Amino acid sequence: MFTTQGVCDWCKKAAQVTRHDYIDGKYHHSCEDCQERAKLDVRQFNLEEVDLSNKYSAGYQAA
Ligand SMILES: [Zn+2]
Repeated sequence: MFTTQGVCDWCKKAAQVTRHDYIDGKYHHSCEDCQERAKLDVRQFNLEEVDLSNKYSAGYQAA
């Protein structure tokens, strides 16, 4: 995994951080302590994005 010196976007501490990419092209960095939480957050975000785009492409309309 790619690591670099930076600031963790979850706890805001300066540390060695890993980059997490979002499906929409954005990304955040997390330190080792926040990595598990970061993975979950990013996965959840990406699932919701995929879900939304599936609904739109299927002609989904909100009630
Ligand atoms: Zn952190």
